[in-house]
Amino acid sequence: MRRVYMDHNATTPVHPEVLEAMMPFFQDQFGNASSIHWAGREVKKYLEEAREKVAALLNASPEEVIFTGCGTESDNMAIKGVAFALRESGQHIITTQVEHHAVLHTCQFLEKIGYKVTYLPVDGDGLINLEELRRSITDETILITIMFANNETGTIFPVQEIGEIAREKGVIFHTDSVQAVGKLAIDLQRLPVDILSLSGHKLYTPKGIGAQYIRKGTKMASLIHGGAQEQNRRAGTENIPYIIGLGKASEIARRDFQKRRTHLTALRDRLHQGFIQRMPHLKLNGHATQRLPNTLNLSFSSIEGESLLLNLDLEGIAVSSGSACTSGSLEPSHVLLAMGIPHEIAQSAIRFSLGWNNTEEDVDYVLEVLPKIVQRLRDISPLYQKKVATLK
Ligand SMILES: *Cc1c(COP(=O)(O)O)cnc(C)c1O
Repeated sequence: MRRVYMDHNATTPVHPEVLEAMMPFFQDQFGNASSIHWAGREVKKYLEEAREKVAALLNASPEEVIFTGCGTESDNMAIKGVAFALRESGQHIITTQVEHHAVLHTCQFLEKIGYKVTYLPVDGDGLINLEELRRSITDETILITIMFANNETGTIFPVQEIGEIAREKGVIFHTDSVQAVGKLAIDLQRLPVDILSLSGHKLYTPKGIGAQYIRKGTKMASLIHGGAQEQNRRAGTENIPYIIGLGKASEIARRDFQKRRTHLTALRDRLHQGFIQRMPHLKLNGHATQRLPNTLNLSFSSIEGESLLLNLDLEGIAVSSGSACTSGSLEPSHVLLAMGIPHEIAQSAIRFSLGWNNTEEDVDYVLEVLPKIVQRLRDISPLYQKKVATLK
């Protein structure tokens, strides 16, 4: 059976060049980067090269990049780190209702220990109202944490404008950019962002490596105490093979940026147009244009996204319904509900997220298989029969 993977916003396969770059660091280059002797010095040199590559992808300086264990850790570090460092100046944080759980659950934890959090609502496209953001800032506000691009819908937030508001009010701005890095041009010399989180496994490294950009002078407490690694911001002997992998993945993302973007946009639009030609009653979730090049979130009226997902899986097609974290339960995605999408439509949503190694043949296979499944599920759906009857 053909296998097609279209769930790259959940995780990506390891790029062969990334794996190759990592290999020596499992055996020959085993040193501890803090050691003074040759074994340590060599590894230290490669560690700093990897940092330079991540920094180059973001147009930041290497001293502003530190490595972490994953995107979730980076988000926790940013939010708790600022909250703990600035608790004397204020205890109010602003975020949105559509963040990843790495941000939402961290904010909820802080609420339990006395912080106040504003969860900004979003409109039908998944975007916040900038005036409402401005109005929400008080003398107590210490942090704005808003994602760069949404993992479920691909909607891109106006990070420039949000950052300008934060600057104007003297509030630290963190952006969870796990989905944006490598897919969107990010220039931190120009963007008014103070802290930015990213994750390796959404960028073709293995799972379990992340990074954090921290603008010089940003006040942030450490979450992990111990040795002096990572400029005293994140203790623990560095995970060298994975850091090398993230360096390589960043280098490739920079090198292939335009090529990937063109490829992904073309495939995504071929998929979307193909569906439109083959099936009625589809709804695009997320912003029509201000959206990641690889992401297509569609509702297939009157059927359960979960049933569609399982049927696609039987045909070798891997996609996602709602967010990866909520699949398995039938609660519709918090992101789609926050966008005001009715329960029934949110429940019928499927996210297709493409990667650089998807092909036109992959897209055409999905276009061949999926409409038949949708038709079959709609034929046995009382909801759909009712809908068709009312349309007649
Ligand atoms: C995947 C993801 C994370 C979490 O990253 P991990 O490395 O899996 O911990 C955080 N935010 C967003 C938007 C994500 O897509």
